[in-house]
Amino acid sequence: MVELKTPAEIELMREAGRVVGNALAAVKKSAAAGVSLRELDEVAREVLRSAGAESTFEGYQPGFATTPFSGVICTSVNDAVLHGLPTDYRLQDGDLLNVDCGVSLDGWCGDAATSFCIGTPRPEDLDLIATAEEALAAGIAAAVEGNRIGDIGAAIGRIGKRAGVGTNLDFGGHGIGHRMHEDPHIPNGSRPGRGLKLRAGHVFAIEPWFWAGPGSTYVIDEDGWTLRSADHTRGVHAEHTVAITSEGPRILTLP
Ligand code: MG
Ligand code: MG
Repeated sequence: MVELKTPAEIELMREAGRVVGNALAAVKKSAAAGVSLRELDEVAREVLRSAGAESTFEGYQPGFATTPFSGVICTSVNDAVLHGLPTDYRLQDGDLLNVDCGVSLDGWCGDAATSFCIGTPRPEDLDLIATAEEALAAGIAAAVEGNRIGDIGAAIGRIGKRAGVGTNLDFGGHGIGHRMHEDPHIPNGSRPGRGLKLRAGHVFAIEPWFWAGPGSTYVIDEDGWTLRSADHTRGVHAEHTVAITSEGPRILTLP
């Protein structure tokens, strides 16, 4: 079932989303060569703590995972793109870092992710980040009343296809509300005009992720979580929690 949120509930989700936006901004500010992924997790933890928010990641154990997740952020470096466990790895100049964060505040969830370079960026990484951000913007622009759920994935898929990046449909966007993952699933590539009709009050996490490609398969590290491209090309991830309103899409996970 796909729930509709009232305007008052969307305001509460905005507050949860603000904590996510603040946590990602703080992590980005602290991320530098020599800083460990675990230290970045601590930075995010402090933002959540001071806001009175709980992590929706820590302790999370979906069907594919062999152990509960131990961080409040996912930190995926270079050829890792999703679900990266924060470890003692220290960032190096030129690394590409993907950070994902989910929180619950007063019973409402927010979920967002961003990718950026450490120190001196590789031009191809900047291009890949720009593609993910363009796809996210296109997905959000399609999240309007009267469209269908397939229009969001189609908009994302179109950008990815045009850029020639590697894509995989196993993980994608989702409904979000009292729980981090609610119906529907929003694959990052689908046929337009299909699926649920979008209405004011729908709230979705929209989240394109790509590899430099052209491969489209992945491997999971021995930690049971960190997802890497099978061909070791680098990956990026961009995500916002977005409410569909009568005035258009509203991003809830900005700082
Ligand atoms: Mg996320
Ligand atoms: Mg998500």
